[in-house]
Amino acid sequence: MSEDRNLGEIGRAAALTELVGLLESEDSTKDLYRDILRITGTVLGADGAFVLQAQSNGAVHAAWRADGLDALPLQFSKQEEAAISGGSGGSARFLQREMTGLTEQERHLLERLSAENMTVFLTGQEPAQYLCFYSIMQSGRPGGREEADLTLGQSAAIILESILAGRNQRTALADSYMALETVLEQMENGIYVCDMTGKSMLFANRSLRRAFRRELAEDTFGGIAEGGTLKDNGSYEMYHAAGNRWYEIRRMEIRWVSGQPARLYTFYDISDKKVYLNKIEQQVYTDFLTGLYNRMRCERDLEFQLHEAGKTGGKGALLYLDLDDFKHINEGLGHQYGDVLLRAVSHGMQQVRGISHCCYRMSGDEFVIIVPVEWFGEFERILQDIKEIFNRPWFLRDANYYCTMSMGVALFPDAGDNTQELLKKAGIAMNEAKEGGKNRVVYYSERIPSRSGRRLDMEKNMRDASVAGYGEFEVYYQPIVEIDRRDDSVTCLGAEALVRWNSSELGFIPPAEFIPLAEYLGLINPIGNHVLLQACRACKRWNEGGCPEYRVHVNLSVIQLLQPDIVDTIQKAIQETGIRPDHLVLEVTESLAINDLERMKEIITGIRSLGAEIALDDFGTGYSSLSHIREIPFDLIKIDHSFVKDLHKDNYSQAFIRMVTELADTIGVGICVEGVESREQYEIVKDMAIAMLQGYYFDRPMKEELFEEKYAPGKPAAG
Ligand code: C2E
Ligand code: CA
Ligand code: CA
Repeated sequence: MSEDRNLGEIGRAAALTELVGLLESEDSTKDLYRDILRITGTVLGADGAFVLQAQSNGAVHAAWRADGLDALPLQFSKQEEAAISGGSGGSARFLQREMTGLTEQERHLLERLSAENMTVFLTGQEPAQYLCFYSIMQSGRPGGREEADLTLGQSAAIILESILAGRNQRTALADSYMALETVLEQMENGIYVCDMTGKSMLFANRSLRRAFRRELAEDTFGGIAEGGTLKDNGSYEMYHAAGNRWYEIRRMEIRWVSGQPARLYTFYDISDKKVYLNKIEQQVYTDFLTGLYNRMRCERDLEFQLHEAGKTGGKGALLYLDLDDFKHINEGLGHQYGDVLLRAVSHGMQQVRGISHCCYRMSGDEFVIIVPVEWFGEFERILQDIKEIFNRPWFLRDANYYCTMSMGVALFPDAGDNTQELLKKAGIAMNEAKEGGKNRVVYYSERIPSRSGRRLDMEKNMRDASVAGYGEFEVYYQPIVEIDRRDDSVTCLGAEALVRWNSSELGFIPPAEFIPLAEYLGLINPIGNHVLLQACRACKRWNEGGCPEYRVHVNLSVIQLLQPDIVDTIQKAIQETGIRPDHLVLEVTESLAINDLERMKEIITGIRSLGAEIALDDFGTGYSSLSHIREIPFDLIKIDHSFVKDLHKDNYSQAFIRMVTELADTIGVGICVEGVESREQYEIVKDMAIAMLQGYYFDRPMKEELFEEKYAPGKPAAG
């Protein structure tokens, strides 16, 4: 494996530097020997090593064993001897020089041991010293030594020789330093030696000269050596842009040729190690499911971007996204489709120019995107591209599904200049987007946090109110009317039940504010059931009290619709209250989950089989398509407010209403237009021959008593 080779090289490089470091060692000669054997032996993967000196009656200077056992006096068991000898009868690999100067006895010792399991290096001074490295039982590095290992062994021998020469002044210094230069010259690492002032270069080896040719020629190298970032272990790390390499630089003080003190820098090329580490890092920082980066990486990158912004005076943005109603997909279609959707969304985000490497999956269906400082100039375009992803459907299992998202935006450094704070603020803005009705973008501002606190209050109070029996949830009624175009007379057809929360703690809260939370907490089921029962009872009373044809509309949340027992629940309400089933209209919105056409059809058909009717609410806002109207058996379409609002100035709205009306007519579905507020709007819709209308222009939602007073004044016949 090339990774093994990398590690081998790194090991050798480190060993060589450690050996060079011994040049300045003040240790006893004995320790010195042992260090050399240990350092070299470890890298060679030897089981043991010893130094044998010629002309000394086989005296062993030093010995080392990898297993830490005391290696002196050098004694091998019969088995070990056999193992070292390897039985192959070959002779040891003597390198560099002839095996000379040995006495008979010494030669015999080496020959006895020698085989391919032992490698011997020889120093050059007189008397010669033999550095012997052996492996027992093939446990050494498989496949024999690499050429590079042999070079390392030789270098160890030369360094030992140099040191001994330095300690033994009788031998010519220059000779041994020349040998040292030879070692340094051959090293894979860059070596740079200069005087203690750092000003004048004494030596640079081939590898260093090659890597820093330009800097050496231009005499700008001096600063480089100590220009990197200082690391814990005292070494420097630097990136050399010209050569696109990373170096770790270690510095030591040594005595150079003439005995003059000098600094020696070793430049390890750690680029490959970096690549390897990056690969590991990649795994640590990657979200397994989507292949996006994860939260840890997000925090790191954000930190960097904040730093960038601080340095350059630029800006950036942190976007916090949460898919709307992802739960429904997961529960409705199964987790495997949820996963498909998460992957598809992730892929979509990565395609957006400028942020492809800054998308993170934080957890579940939450994502974060950093708009980096250098791309902030295109922020609007990026935002638009992201929104675009959610404007198209995803094909899951067997149908197209839409998935919207809520997004919180925190700009930096305006909103904050630390990672946690920014993430928190973007999250708060995202929550705000959810509570504001989902499918929207909210920018963080200082006024939001109080609302967020309110959400917690709301959650607690809503749970309390539920335990107390839903009494705080009051049902209001807004009349739905019909116009007789001949005389402009308005007749009430019944009412839509609209819930309000009259919290004893928090006061009066409109549904838009608490229903998303109730849905989130699952409390919408009991609350919705409470509304259903109240509304059916009220309708029954109106019917018995002189308004026999009044009908009541009740809103059903998607969460309620997805309850497996929703049909039973409605049936029970009908039975318990005695309402005529066809006087109950259930209003549903089309949304993500009910884009599952088959399921939608099944639920709707189930409810209609009870005799109740179904209205498609807020038509025109979501992703309701005209083809769905044809396929799903609705009884009524309620055209959303927004079309009425712009009716007088917007041809599109008029055309839309006309078209839907015509279509509804041909397929025998009723139309109701809601949100009629002004005379002007009223005149326009009246001309369109729409049967049912609803809006402030006629009346506001009101308490039950008031509605009965105004629209159903008769008294029920009995009890
Ligand atoms: P929706 O079903 O579209 O209800 C109509 C909303 O429009 C009501 O708001 C009503 O007060 C308002 N409205 C009526 N006429 C006009 C008008 O002329 N102009 C304007 N601007 N608005 C008008 P409300 O009561 O605040 O309810 C908001 C939403 O909350 C409802 O929208 C519905 O989606 C939900 N909601 C209300 N009650 C319930 C409930 O019992 N269960 C469920 N699941 N959702 C409910
Ligand atoms: Ca409604
Ligand atoms: Ca509506």
